[in-house]
Amino acid sequence: MKCDVAIVGAGPAGLCLARALDGMGLDIRLFDASPQESLACPAEDGREIALTHASQAVLERIGVWQRLDPESLSELRDAAVFDGESARPMRITHADGGHERLGTLVSNHHIRRAAWEAVADQKGVEVDTGVTVDTTELSAAGRRLGLSDGRSVEAGLVIAADSRFSGLRRAAGIGARMRDFGRSMLLARVALEQDHEHVAWEWFGYDRTLALLPLNGRRASAVITLPHEQARRLSQVDEADFNREVTGMYRDRLGAMRLEGQRHLYPLVGVWPDRLVAERLAAVGDAAVGMHPVTAHGFNLGLTGIDILSGEMQRAAGRGQPVSQLAVLKAYQRRHRLASLPLYLATASVVGLYTDDRLPARILRRSALRVANRVAPFRQAVARQLTGKGGFPGPLALVRGSGQ
Ligand SMILES: Cc1cc2nc3c(=O)[nH]c(=O)nc-3n(C[C@H](O)[C@H](O)[C@H](O)COP(=O)(O)OP(=O)(O)OC[C@H]3O[C@@H](n4cnc5c(N)ncnc54)[C@H](O)[C@@H]3O)c2cc1C
Repeated sequence: MKCDVAIVGAGPAGLCLARALDGMGLDIRLFDASPQESLACPAEDGREIALTHASQAVLERIGVWQRLDPESLSELRDAAVFDGESARPMRITHADGGHERLGTLVSNHHIRRAAWEAVADQKGVEVDTGVTVDTTELSAAGRRLGLSDGRSVEAGLVIAADSRFSGLRRAAGIGARMRDFGRSMLLARVALEQDHEHVAWEWFGYDRTLALLPLNGRRASAVITLPHEQARRLSQVDEADFNREVTGMYRDRLGAMRLEGQRHLYPLVGVWPDRLVAERLAAVGDAAVGMHPVTAHGFNLGLTGIDILSGEMQRAAGRGQPVSQLAVLKAYQRRHRLASLPLYLATASVVGLYTDDRLPARILRRSALRVANRVAPFRQAVARQLTGKGGFPGPLALVRGSGQ
């Protein structure tokens, strides 16, 4: 088998990159380990992705947004950040961001399905499912990939979109720094007794972090970060106990909470690869940066990277240069790192601050929130980053479950 571009991983990043390369006349092959049915009709995985306005614009441009059912989009209007027992939150409003909402919440499985459908209709793309890519080596044509079914593929350019634990990245000799936070995030869709008014909550308790993401109707995604064993226990207690415990954790602020559907547990591991590119290979999506979900930036950054890489490839093609040359890939790496490094570092600081239960850290975070609440330019910078109208590193940390 031969192709111009081989994309390994048909998750949201791999699929969106295939869409972003549409119209370039490239022969693209996508490979994924999962069977076709689970890619075409992905199961609900509990993740409610908080998309910024900039991400929405990319998804529109690549024809994925249009395939999302409008009913599946939930408005993220404002955000409230609580610290400990304090009843007065820092409030970030859509008005601070100069938009009618801060962002939009969409379930991950809806994004995956929309992206799959868009790629299924795309000329020049072939998808191989139920097969893993096990090896990669440089070859005369670019790179040769070895597949689990014994076949091999010659590709001019290989894209690693195979998750934060990317085997392809490793096979290409790229190392990564990983940080296991020792905590897990439990996600559960819950029905609420009272209206959330489309406000996302972030609540930094001293022994846990809670977030509440407002979904359409009186529903929300409860996002509970705890030491792994406690999170595991909560994911397994019977439904009545879960409802009682979770209502208590959220201090009855929106009345009784009732579980709807499955609970999902995610151990929290951050990944920062040493490089994003090698000869004839580039990593995208979580393979390029595995963010802690506290910042809700994983897929948003994935889309930023896809936009940058496809733009660099288009510019190279316009100049009559090969899209797979190292200079093109390095330009992508440079720009992606500029976008992701401040967020990665800010996330690490927020996680560190909210993991530390010593008194100075408690005082620091309480004072930080008080000051931030009073300083309009700070709130506006946070809101503008969400709405895509400004640049402030790491703000979604404030509206999304932390891995304290
Ligand atoms: C709890 C949680 C909440 C989150 N919330 C947000 C949020 O609010 N906002 C946000 O922007 N992001 C969020 N994210 C991050 C977001 O979900 C990820 O960034 C995104 O799903 C990553 O997509 P991906 O395609 O890079 O990787 P994945 O979704 O991991 O897909 C990788 C694909 O590669 C395939 N694969 C792996 N190895 C191979 C191989 N060797 N051969 C073939 N195929 C292979 C797999 O089968 C899979 O389909 C959250 C993440 C978590 C865990």
